[in-house]
Amino acid sequence: MRLRPRRTPAPPGPDHTRIAVLEHDLLGITPPDGSAAALTIALRATGTCLAHDPIATTTLRDPAPTAVCARCGQCMVYRDGTWQTAKAG
Ligand SMILES: [Zn+2]
Repeated sequence: MRLRPRRTPAPPGPDHTRIAVLEHDLLGITPPDGSAAALTIALRATGTCLAHDPIATTTLRDPAPTAVCARCGQCMVYRDGTWQTAKAG
C-alpha cells in the first residue's frame, strides 16, 4: 500500500475587503457602492460606540486639547468643558 503525500492547504488569499478599506483610509479611494468595503466603512462611520471613551493625545494644559475615542477611533476635542467629536460644532 502506497501512501499519498500530504498536501498542505493553500495559504489564504488576499483579503480584498481589508485592502479596499485600507485604500479608503490611506489613499482616499472610495470603494464601489454596495461592496463589502463600502458597508464596512459605512458601519464604522455610524458609530459602534454609544458613549465615546476619549484617550487624550495632548495634555489638558494644551490650548486645544485633543483625544481619540478608544472605541470608535473618532478624533475628539475638549470644548466647553466636555469631550466632543471633532466634527460637532
Ligand atoms: Zn467613540
